[in-house]
Amino acid sequence: YQGKHGPTGVVVYEESAARPATDSLVLQRELRRAIADDQLLLQYQPKLHLSTGQVSCVEALVRWQHPERGLLPPIDFLPVAERSELIEPLTRWVLRQALTDCARWAEAGRPWSVAVNVSARNLATLEFVEVVRETLAATAVPPERLYLEITETAVAFDAGQVREVVERLAEIGISVSVDDFGVGYTGLSQLRAMSIREIKIDRAFIANLEESQQDRAIVASVIDLAHGLGCTVTAEGVETQQVADWLADAGCDHGQGYLWLRPSPWQEIVPAGEASGTALPASPAP
Ligand code: C2E
Ligand code: MG
Ligand code: MG
Ligand code: MG
Repeated sequence: YQGKHGPTGVVVYEESAARPATDSLVLQRELRRAIADDQLLLQYQPKLHLSTGQVSCVEALVRWQHPERGLLPPIDFLPVAERSELIEPLTRWVLRQALTDCARWAEAGRPWSVAVNVSARNLATLEFVEVVRETLAATAVPPERLYLEITETAVAFDAGQVREVVERLAEIGISVSVDDFGVGYTGLSQLRAMSIREIKIDRAFIANLEESQQDRAIVASVIDLAHGLGCTVTAEGVETQQVADWLADAGCDHGQGYLWLRPSPWQEIVPAGEASGTALPASPAP
């Protein structure tokens, strides 16, 4: 924060772009309390089958309802969580809430899968496999309904350990997705060696598909690569119908993006074609 003298000589603090390091300690302490006090919340964004428009899966995206600063996006607090041990309770909270909501969709006749983002640090120890197993059991969600999205950076991070954790997760029936594909450093041999169910093409390649012949070439190759590896492929960040049509023609399986729905509260996720009057009742905490 930068101090500034107000008209009365009182120092007024303004937020500065360059925040001092102590700020991240304050943030850590606040975030620890936020996790315990249920200040986190999830918004959801559906993945749709490009050929049918049906919802196949719904991705959970965490937010923090900060008491003074309002609703914070993950970029404002995830880096701090990932640099500390706080990513562990944060991921446990997200997993528990997402699976609770998944069970409620199923009760409402919408047996969608749910996708949870996990950080590299979560995959560093086999203990995470137990956390997942216990949460599935506690919420009575079948493992086939859970996707865990890991970034390419996580795949590259201590590949040996991550690979073993991913194998154990696949053994219990969970699907593993590689998120943000194309912007990281996954070696193709690492990808081949792991039980990956889905590849999600990063939004960076989707945003300018219409103008960029290079991006179209990259996306077409990633679709072939994914299918060649036996994976399904999802395009992130689809914002226009033209892009959705191009992707469907190119054989992309699923799409996700503002074209269909922005990340929204649990009860607002309704399948394409259903009126919003059929919105689900409010979600109780787990
Ligand atoms: P991601 O998993 O790749 O999620 C997609 C991001 O793109 C989300 O941003 C989403 O709101 C945004 N998005 C979706 N469709 C569109 C679109 O059509 N156009 C544009 N411009 N953006 C779109 P968000 O919610 O801010 O999340 C950012 C990242 O934070 C996520 O990227 C994910 O890596 C991470 N994240 C979110 N929730 C969690 C969580 O619970 N745990 C962990 N470890 N990471 C999370
Ligand atoms: Mg994701
Ligand atoms: Mg992504
Ligand atoms: Mg992303």
